[in-house]
Amino acid sequence: MTIQLSDRINQLGESETLAMSRISRELKAQGHNVINLSVGEPDFFTPDNIKEAAKKAIDENYSFYPPVNGYLELREAICQKLKRDNNLHYTPDQIIASTGAKHSIMNAILCLINPGDEVVIPTPYWVSYSHMVSYAQGKHVYVEAGIENDYKITPQQLENAITPNTKLFMFSSPCNPSGSVYSREELKKLAEVFERHPHVFILSDEIYELINFDKNHESIAQFPAIKDRVILINGVSKGFAMTGWRLGYMAAHPQIAAAANKLQGQFTSATSSIAQKAAQAAMETPPEATRFMLEKFRERRDLMLELLKGVPGFKTNVPRGAFYLFPDVSSYFGKSDGKTTIQSAGDLSMYILNKVFVALVPGEAFGSPNCIRLSYATSNDLLVEAVERIKTALAELR
Ligand code: PMP
Ligand code: GLU
Repeated sequence: MTIQLSDRINQLGESETLAMSRISRELKAQGHNVINLSVGEPDFFTPDNIKEAAKKAIDENYSFYPPVNGYLELREAICQKLKRDNNLHYTPDQIIASTGAKHSIMNAILCLINPGDEVVIPTPYWVSYSHMVSYAQGKHVYVEAGIENDYKITPQQLENAITPNTKLFMFSSPCNPSGSVYSREELKKLAEVFERHPHVFILSDEIYELINFDKNHESIAQFPAIKDRVILINGVSKGFAMTGWRLGYMAAHPQIAAAANKLQGQFTSATSSIAQKAAQAAMETPPEATRFMLEKFRERRDLMLELLKGVPGFKTNVPRGAFYLFPDVSSYFGKSDGKTTIQSAGDLSMYILNKVFVALVPGEAFGSPNCIRLSYATSNDLLVEAVERIKTALAELR
């Protein structure tokens, strides 16, 4: 039987990050010794105080439907966190807790985008942004941020990309996949451009807030002239090693929050009650308590930068946050091992996966077809071994 699926779902691409993880799981199941540097998730366990809060919630029978936008205590804890860490004032009616930051981003897009609305997205961008915008029938306007500017766009580039049809600008800082972090001054200059264009909303994805190697986190929501138009996205997946708990949130103008509440009320209802109580404990945990993870990620970043110096033809920036490296690998395009000719980053990723069983994500997924993404959220030993294997595979290309 051929099942006639909707055009909408047929047109939606599979998440490339999750696809590479799926392929590497399949190869592992076949008995191959795969090193998976494709998926972006911390390899730490969720901190004990957060796990205790979840166990307590189960024992206290938090088993009923929570309010669609999240328990008031959770939304208050998020507001207090935003005040404590970011000096941002929000009220609980501006917060919507969702099933991961991914869900919060989709909520924002579905609440704002009409078919044909332009959405400005700097490249490289996080993989799901483009698919989500397509799903809402928005029109992508990509702005290329090159390695020479540390993968960040300039205010002039932003100015040039905005038209009367622009509805939304969306970016992550710290950035997945480049690890770039916009400084306060850089954000201020972008905010000045937005000030001149009051019809544009700004989705600020701050999920890597706590994985910032140099400075304290800066949010573009700090600039009062544009704060009402900023949709701040954050969650517990990365900073608290809670990817499987599925809790993210949006902080936004009350009207946008109300729209997301309505949408969620029809599609998913509230996210898990137990995850909410765990996330409340995470919000009440001061950032210093998770610093050991940041320090580990820094050590691994430094190790990877050192190791990549030994890989001929890989050109990389110095990531200031998140846990990825995003080298330009285009010097291998056109080369062959006699059987396979590498035409793209996708070809190179598949070649490396099939030859030496290291899973990476091709840059096409992030709008930067000359690059590949390596996640260094794994042990030093595995990182050393992975780079050795990559070098072995590359050495056969001429
Ligand atoms: N934004 C970025 C930039 C990410 O890397 C991720 C990781 N999946 C998400 C959002 C979604 O995170 P979550 O696990 O909270 O859905
Ligand atoms: N954010 C992670 C990544 O980019 C998780 C995978 C996903 O949600 O797409 O690899």
